[in-house]
Amino acid sequence: MAQTIVQFTPLPSLTHPSFWHKLTELKLDVLKLSDAEVDITATYRVGRLIEDRESGPGTFVGVGGSLGVEEESFGLGHSSPAIGSAVAKGVVKNYNTIEEFKAADKSKLFNEAADKIWKSILETRSTALLNTFLLITYADLKKYRYYYWFAFPAFTSSPAWHIDAHPGWIGAGTPESKLSDQQLRVIYDQLHTSKQPFPYFLIRSSSSSAINVAAIEDYSPNTDTNETTTIGFIDPSAQPQNPGWPLRNLLAYFRALYPQSTSKLRIICWRDAEVPRGEEGWKSRVGTIFLGPDGVSADGSNVTTRPNAVGWEKNVQGKLGPRMADLAPMMDPVRLANQAVDLNLKLMRWRILPELDLEKISATKCLLLGAGTLGCYVARCLMGWGVRTISFVDSSRVSFSNPVRQPLFKFEDCLNGGRPKAECAAERLKEVWPGINATGYTLSIPMPGHPIPASPPSVLEQTKKDVAKLEELIETHDVVYLLMDSRESRWLPTVIARAKDKLVMNAALGFDSFLVMRHGARPEQHSVVQRDELGGSRKHLGCYYCNDIVAPADSLTDRTLDQMCTVTRPGLASMAASTAVELMMNVLQHPQGIRAPAPRPSVTNPLDNQFDEHGEGTSVLGLIPHQLRGYLAQFRNLHIVGAAYDKCTGCSETVLEAYESQGFDMMLNAFNDPKYLERLTGLDKLYEDGEKALEDVDWVEEEGGDDF
Ligand SMILES: [Zn+2]
Repeated sequence: MAQTIVQFTPLPSLTHPSFWHKLTELKLDVLKLSDAEVDITATYRVGRLIEDRESGPGTFVGVGGSLGVEEESFGLGHSSPAIGSAVAKGVVKNYNTIEEFKAADKSKLFNEAADKIWKSILETRSTALLNTFLLITYADLKKYRYYYWFAFPAFTSSPAWHIDAHPGWIGAGTPESKLSDQQLRVIYDQLHTSKQPFPYFLIRSSSSSAINVAAIEDYSPNTDTNETTTIGFIDPSAQPQNPGWPLRNLLAYFRALYPQSTSKLRIICWRDAEVPRGEEGWKSRVGTIFLGPDGVSADGSNVTTRPNAVGWEKNVQGKLGPRMADLAPMMDPVRLANQAVDLNLKLMRWRILPELDLEKISATKCLLLGAGTLGCYVARCLMGWGVRTISFVDSSRVSFSNPVRQPLFKFEDCLNGGRPKAECAAERLKEVWPGINATGYTLSIPMPGHPIPASPPSVLEQTKKDVAKLEELIETHDVVYLLMDSRESRWLPTVIARAKDKLVMNAALGFDSFLVMRHGARPEQHSVVQRDELGGSRKHLGCYYCNDIVAPADSLTDRTLDQMCTVTRPGLASMAASTAVELMMNVLQHPQGIRAPAPRPSVTNPLDNQFDEHGEGTSVLGLIPHQLRGYLAQFRNLHIVGAAYDKCTGCSETVLEAYESQGFDMMLNAFNDPKYLERLTGLDKLYEDGEKALEDVDWVEEEGGDDF
């Protein structure tokens, strides 16, 4: 009778994109530069026959199962594989460079993996590691290309396994298979109700035609004969005359442990993931195989020596070599953007500024009070620095004059009365970079000297709510930007932010000059004023209101159009906004942060607005000035240091203590009574004294003086 050598269908690999995403995460966050092996699991499922519609009914094409890895392959992995599937354990070894990947000692790795399987057969007599695999990878994270090579070590048999050419492998359920439809149904049920996944199993039939699925480990050479017992495995092959790869190590297992009784075995290649319907028939294949030509049984000696193994996967060109998964075309663009933004910033740290703390910057939550020209530019600049959380507060709507100067708005935003600025700006930031956490709040900020009417009561209620919301927003952010277009609207956030110890960045525009400053922090309690080496005391830095001798009051009514709108040179806002953001970055990089002192004037050149670039008041990014005044007409910036003023309506302890003890009531006094803050701080007394001093002076009236 003609015999033919049993040829096994290789098990192809299938890598899901989620596997590479997970590997990337692992590499960036856990493995970093380590190339240690990581345990993973994979699944393969039975091969399938699919009816070929083109060739007509009754013709089938085989679709083989593949060994798939995906996100779940890491960690605990696949605990309960689907029906008709098996789990395989393996390891992934990820190299740091393509050169290391290419130069890896593949035979050594492969032999170690094969040794592990062989050792587990001899020492544990378990089938648990029979279908293990090895995967080596190199991940090019800039291009999202993943080079990889799978190995499924399989032991070769010498002599080879044979099968009679006729009938060869036959369909289960046919009369020649000696397995009835009924029996196959029982096997199916037992396989699928079993709690243990069965990549390999025994089918025992007794004389009473009862049939039973058992674990391979239960095999006994005395009772399990070719007549009573069929060896089964989940078969990923779909080829009618070729069993799949996983059978090879199972055969090696029997030869190693039971050499005397296993030179001839009856095998079932299990390929049924569901019970066949109608005329379909069972897809599993049955055959009896034997060692060596003419059934010459091999001698049972020397079986403990590990047989040779084969199993590196061929690439798509059919050659032994790695494969490549190119994920760039299918990467989620949002994810791509996030990684690209980070990478671009991280490059700064490679050579130019290794000490730069980018994490601190990206974690800083910024609250932008005002979503106008300054707000739009500040937001764009913060984004460039990788800041992840930006919130806008504004009470107005986008108007027709806005889009040309306020880069987050478009013409369509002005239609139908205009969209609320804060929400619209936040939405636009997300269009620029979907990874950003941007929110807009439509909210008016009450101002001193702008009385809250007593009726209707709802107005007072609303003011109370607005103040509470502003307090909450300041509390939940780290930096508060004052970017409004009136002086007095900055007062309330100045007081609240100082009480909550937040960094305040302030930018204000004139026609061709700007002011950018950071407010000084509240002195820490019991702080001792330090003496510097020149003997002077180091002054606390002031706020926006420290130079005022009157309290902020209503400056908006009774003004002409050009006074009410900010009339400035168009380039000024972006200069001021960028200056404010860059100043904030310098503050963040200083170890004292919000309490960083101002830079000292250069000893050698104190009069020329020169500063000591390496002393206190500097960070890795450079000087941390207190105030900058920019003069566009002269293309010039001046550094100014302003000390805190103890009668300041924005930052003095008197004001803060009144706010902390009376809360909203104190604010209401300030809103309703234009003189309240001056009385509170003692500015009124100062003013009176000043007036009195003036009265004592004898003035010479000038003839024809202008009354204005
Ligand atoms: Zn002040």
